[in-house]
Amino acid sequence: MSGSVAPMTTPRRAGPKAGSPFRVSGVVLPGGEHKDLYVVDGRVTYQPVPTTDLVAEGWIVPGLVDAHCHIGLDEHGPVSDEISEEQALADRDAGTLLVRDAGSAADTRWIDGRDDLPRVIRAGRHIARPKRYIRNYAHEVEPDELVSCVVQEAQRGDGWVKLVGDWIDRDAADLMPSWPADALRAAIGAAHEHGARVTAHVFGEEALPDLLAAGIDCIEHGTGLSGDLIDDMAARGVALVPTVRQLENFPNYAAAGEARFPAYAAHMRALFERRHETIGAAYDAGVPIYAGTDAGGVLPHGLIADEVITMAAYGVSPCDALGAASWQARSWLGRPASLEEGDEADFVVYDEDPLTDLNVLSHPSRIVLRGRILA
Ligand SMILES: [Zn+2]
Repeated sequence: MSGSVAPMTTPRRAGPKAGSPFRVSGVVLPGGEHKDLYVVDGRVTYQPVPTTDLVAEGWIVPGLVDAHCHIGLDEHGPVSDEISEEQALADRDAGTLLVRDAGSAADTRWIDGRDDLPRVIRAGRHIARPKRYIRNYAHEVEPDELVSCVVQEAQRGDGWVKLVGDWIDRDAADLMPSWPADALRAAIGAAHEHGARVTAHVFGEEALPDLLAAGIDCIEHGTGLSGDLIDDMAARGVALVPTVRQLENFPNYAAAGEARFPAYAAHMRALFERRHETIGAAYDAGVPIYAGTDAGGVLPHGLIADEVITMAAYGVSPCDALGAASWQARSWLGRPASLEEGDEADFVVYDEDPLTDLNVLSHPSRIVLRGRILA
């Protein structure tokens, strides 16, 4: 590219005045055509606008999506608005301009009033069985309260509800399904009636058949998937967000549980050992896969590039791995997917082609959100 990278000590080219139109030139993904893209009043146009500043050249990618992220959480539970803001800024500066928040105990609705922070699609707060999830995270309810809790979160969120589908059961000393099949059927049906899709955290094998039979829309992690379940997901378009960076932590969870729960530890290690085969089989079968970092619990924010790079190491093609964090995920979430005429101007520019080398994603050269240059 002609736009050489400035040394770190040199200030960036100043952007145009706030609100004035500007131009970006380069290859627009996923189409792959070289275009001059103009931003006017926060929207994309390809109609030339005279005397606009050229602010970046390179590869132009629709705003990245973190499809499993938790803003407002850390490992102990809800955090202050200041910390939530830092988390959202870390995501944004990595190019994540749309977040599907997969459960947060904090009220982050205020973020919607900030035009410099990513757009957030919330799943409300996690719903778990009592003492069967991380402390301070979830609404903890019994099966007879599941429908009412799901309806409440469907109304509170932005079209998603998050269940904890399995977790360690201290009596069984292993992963166990959280919910009976009839409670799941009623709860997922109720969410759909309220216009919300449902997703579930699932590490193991046993919880999956009932969740899928009950009509769930997405599985998080999905390390217990195999054979018929994968075929069922592919046939019905049930999504998988494998959080591949998070799967690297399974040996740590196993080690932490080893002394008291050796069967659980062995189970987690077995799921970890075959993670590439499991997620690879789902991808090969055509299950729609999206990129989610699972930031906010154990992992820090801003790891979307890492997630995409790690997905590629699981055998996902570079185009599908990036699509899973951009145009494919945007389309799945009902957002403009490919920077068409009139779309909201949310995009990231890179100096080099990320499809040739996904490591390029770690170094965005420009970030444009709601038509504003933010970096
Ligand atoms: Zn999570």
